[in-house]
Amino acid sequence: MSNHMFDAVRGAAATRGTTLIESAGGRAWTYGDMLDLSGRLAARLVALGVKPGDRVAVQVEKSPEALMLYLASLRAGSVYLPLNTAYTLAELDYFLGDAEPRLVVVSPESGAAIGPVAAGHGAHVETLDDRGGGSLTDGIESWQPDFADVARGPDDLAAILYTSGTTGRSKGAMLTHDNLLSNALTLRDHWRFTGGDRLIHALPIFHTHGLFVASNVILLAGASMYFLPKFDADEALRLMASATAMMGVPTFYVRLVQHPGLTREATAGMRLFVSGSAPLLAETHRLFREKTGHAILERYGMTETNMNTSNPYDGDRVAGTVGFPLPGVDLRIADPDTGAPLARGETGMIEIRGPNVFKGYWRMPEKTAAEFRADGFFITGDLGLVDNRGYVHIVGRGKDLVISGGYNIYPKEVESEIDQLSGVVESAVIGVPHPDFGEGVTAVIVKRPDAAIDEAVVLDGLKSRLARYKQPKKVLFVEDLPRNTMGKVQKNVLRERYKGLYG
Ligand code: ATP
Ligand code: MG
Repeated sequence: MSNHMFDAVRGAAATRGTTLIESAGGRAWTYGDMLDLSGRLAARLVALGVKPGDRVAVQVEKSPEALMLYLASLRAGSVYLPLNTAYTLAELDYFLGDAEPRLVVVSPESGAAIGPVAAGHGAHVETLDDRGGGSLTDGIESWQPDFADVARGPDDLAAILYTSGTTGRSKGAMLTHDNLLSNALTLRDHWRFTGGDRLIHALPIFHTHGLFVASNVILLAGASMYFLPKFDADEALRLMASATAMMGVPTFYVRLVQHPGLTREATAGMRLFVSGSAPLLAETHRLFREKTGHAILERYGMTETNMNTSNPYDGDRVAGTVGFPLPGVDLRIADPDTGAPLARGETGMIEIRGPNVFKGYWRMPEKTAAEFRADGFFITGDLGLVDNRGYVHIVGRGKDLVISGGYNIYPKEVESEIDQLSGVVESAVIGVPHPDFGEGVTAVIVKRPDAAIDEAVVLDGLKSRLARYKQPKKVLFVEDLPRNTMGKVQKNVLRERYKGLYG
């Protein structure tokens, strides 16, 4: 029977003997192993009572088996629901209550604690550890590998992914088989992935970046990947000797450029470095290029839409931009209030339409309706502009826009100026309640340990570069910016921390 996403995965597996995954400790999986294990696990899901459309929630450490469980869920026709391993019991209680999964798969260590919570929501619990052991896979070798895939069409749900929760409570984005397949095929072709590629995969697999962008592209290219539990610059550099590509969040690249081992020689066999999930500093892009000769390719996407834009494979990869809309993706910049399209160069709401765009937020029909325009465009919540060459620039999130004295201030513009001052590592500009201005532009800066820089120096440096209303009312120095597990700066945490700053 036809299973929209998995048929494509099956079709891309060149031979059973081709390597798909190499993981820590020298464990390796071929495409044949993938077909067999995902088949056995799909049979196991069905035996556990999972029916087409049921949610299978998974909170486990990263492992090849966990990826097979995602494929098994596709084959069984269920809806895969990966959960961030950092979520606490209280957060899990919310997610399980919201998603009402039939089955919850957890690490053996957390099984005892999660059991009662899951049972309270009517779910059954199984365990899976980071080496593929646990109650889920117990005795699985004796199961038949030739599972008959459940029929699933392009519009059937494949997954619910919760957003990263950077701006508020995470929302469950409903993604269909074709949302995943269409985007992965587009990225595979756009970034020229073939069976000869070997990807360094050091991202978590509970998020769209590691699960869909990285893993689906590799599967659909018939390529292979090194599966690392987490990013380690030494290990990544060692693997670059035999890999061809890496996908990462900006913090991977920040750590690499600080590493003395990052050289032209070390990266000579690599053909592509991709960055996304959060803005890559132009400085990191520049340093990386200086040290390696490679221009990092930055792209932009989100849980709800998969990937929307990418810098070109051939042609200028422009630092500080996220490139052009991907083939098949419509992107427009609209007036945030009225939805009226804006002209090139004008800043407004980024709106997206295409086969990559999700079906809606799980059990939030009002929120879903509010985030779509009548003509089908999804309102991303990100503010940006398209420059005269067609490159998309993200200037920040709508929720992070600062309104001071009636003027709109786009944080990215101020941050870019601050980041250029000598001694600054990075910065976050936020709006903090202010008795006279509504919000006061506030700069939070990480400086180099040895830098002789203070508030006066920063304000002086910005004086001739930014209109007065954009200049910070206060400048604060911190050791680190607060980040979530995807490396995104949590401006809501900063706003909360400094809310009393102006009295
Ligand atoms: P939540 O929606 O729960 O607040 P989130 O938006 O961080 O969390 P994700 O879906 O993981 O959750 O992240 C998508 C967002 O990440 C985008 O809307 C955008 O703001 C940001 N983003 C992704 N790639 C880039 C990039 N290359 N440059 C700048 N921002 C990016
Ligand atoms: Mg979001």
